[in-house]
Amino acid sequence: MDSTYILPAILTALLLGIAGGKIWERYKLVQGKWVDRRRIRQTPHFIVGLNYLVAGRVDLAIEQFEAALALDPDALELRLMLGNLYRERGQVGRAIQEHQALLQRPRLNPMEHANVLLCLGLDYRQAGFVDRASEAFSEVLKLDPTNEAALSNLEKLQEEQHQWQDAYATRQRLAAVGSPAAQTRSNTILAFLEHELGLEAAGRKDFAEASRRFEAAIAMDKAVIPAYLSLGDVRRAQGDEKAAATIWEQAVDVSPDRAHLPLERLETLYVAQGRPDRFVALCERLTAAAPREWRARAALARHLASQGNPTGALELLFGALEHNPHAIAIHQAIWGLLSALQLPQALVARYIDTTRQSVFYLDPHVCTRCRYRSTGLLWQCPQCHEWNTFVEERITPASDIDSDGPGGAAA
Ligand SMILES: [Zn+2]
Repeated sequence: MDSTYILPAILTALLLGIAGGKIWERYKLVQGKWVDRRRIRQTPHFIVGLNYLVAGRVDLAIEQFEAALALDPDALELRLMLGNLYRERGQVGRAIQEHQALLQRPRLNPMEHANVLLCLGLDYRQAGFVDRASEAFSEVLKLDPTNEAALSNLEKLQEEQHQWQDAYATRQRLAAVGSPAAQTRSNTILAFLEHELGLEAAGRKDFAEASRRFEAAIAMDKAVIPAYLSLGDVRRAQGDEKAAATIWEQAVDVSPDRAHLPLERLETLYVAQGRPDRFVALCERLTAAAPREWRARAALARHLASQGNPTGALELLFGALEHNPHAIAIHQAIWGLLSALQLPQALVARYIDTTRQSVFYLDPHVCTRCRYRSTGLLWQCPQCHEWNTFVEERITPASDIDSDGPGGAAA
């Protein structure tokens, strides 16, 4: 009979013992009141604050977290987060104050110290205190050498200041700690940084160094088109037009959808060599390989117009317009030619017919990472500072969606 109570009694005693031991850990005297520190996270304020945060209501989230903090003013993560929210709201000074105060605390462990410094570095970066931000991120890396957030922020700061060599070293460190999947991305970034270093060398007329850099960039990522353009520019500056043409032709083959960049250079070169037929053949080859690509048509149209053949040019532009009615660069070229021809009625009517249901943008491009839009191809995004994220923004005509189905209509 008694034995049925022994086990529960032992368990009860055990639980009481554990609870007693935990009390010192859990409770804390705050302004004369005992406060359960671990229940801070379970207060309605904390949860409600998180909900507001998820909903993007930063102001309301801040109110709730401030109320939660009143229960335990020492809660480190909560203060860190609150500081970050002040920064998000644009109160950078307040964020700096909050984070600097945390830094003064005795007995921060190295990881806490690194976290506070990282947040402070982000505050400084937002406030435009570049040197102090760099210093904070470097301090984080002394405490935590593989901190990816500190490394990538440091890299962006170095890039903003055109410290390409430093940015290169930082990206190498990031590549070493990143996942194998991130390695390809890192290679692309290193190639772009190598290209920047090459441009600096070319600016100093150090063509040997510049060539070495551009070739290294291509070896690292053969899709880094600006390296081909720049390498060809160096070859041409050195008087080697044949080598320049070869490099630019390679760029066309590597990235036909960006062929318009080397095309302009090749046109000048071929015409100077007295071989405009090579340019015509190249454009025709590109157009045949990718009928939706309008740039080769537009480039050839420009060439024909300059050679005194506006009707041939218009014919090509109408072809380009059918595939890309939203590229206003084509419309502008057509308007120029139509008015040069004194607005022949049949051609104007054809133009109006082709454009009736089009949406116009000026050569629209969009960053695939942050959706920043620009009116041309950019190699580095001015908003999120990522490299090589821009693609041409295309609007697929409704008739294509009908025939290909929703999945098959992608440009
Ligand atoms: Zn972006």
